[in-house]
Amino acid sequence: MKNIIMIAPPAAGKGTQSNLVATKYHIPHISTGDILREVMKEDSEIGEYVLETVTSGGLVKDEIMYTLIEKRLSEADCENGYILDGFPRNVEQAKKYDEILGRLNQTLGYVIVLDIDEKLLAKRVTGRRICENCNAVYNINVESETPEVESVCDVCGGRLYQRNDDNLEAFQNRYQVYLEKTKPLLAYYEEKKKVYRVDGSLSVDEIFKEITKILEGNQ
Ligand code: AMP
Repeated sequence: MKNIIMIAPPAAGKGTQSNLVATKYHIPHISTGDILREVMKEDSEIGEYVLETVTSGGLVKDEIMYTLIEKRLSEADCENGYILDGFPRNVEQAKKYDEILGRLNQTLGYVIVLDIDEKLLAKRVTGRRICENCNAVYNINVESETPEVESVCDVCGGRLYQRNDDNLEAFQNRYQVYLEKTKPLLAYYEEKKKVYRVDGSLSVDEIFKEITKILEGNQ
């Protein structure tokens, strides 16, 4: 499997789709948001800085991201492909990622973009719930994505929690950051002819079907 980058505005479902892709194709799902949420728990200066930045909806400094991502991509399980969820997040990171790929003897692969309307995102963001144990994602505002038992993970029985940046105020900030910093990435990758767009307003299953068609070369 080639490497995959997943790009989407906040709460569009990129984590959910990345998980499905990782499971189907047996490749690691590398979520920089998940990595940062672990760093946030550390009782250190960097832990505090990450907590503050992520909670406000801003972007963590590029230098910190490069260290975390190069370390993770150097691990053996990445040799046969991986799906990147949340990185790169701006054009500077994309350029640095090109350099990292070169050093690791890897290629860019696919860039999958979920297109979705802002109003739908605001509804999704306040309903999102995540399993504290296995990171499975649910949405109590979307009928087909609610857990069977309230606040309990269908997959592992873990407790579901709400991310501290999943509120309307932080969302507005994250969405602006997406428009200003992340969206320009699309032009960067379009020039390289690597972008595949999927309608993010479809159901989880329908989106996944579209993604598998792309990855299996028959869209
Ligand atoms: P996500 O889970 O992808 O929505 O990421 C949650 C938060 O983590 C973002 O709002 C940022 O604060 C931070 N973050 C994740 N990935 C990056 C990145 N590549 N660069 C900077 N900050 C990031």
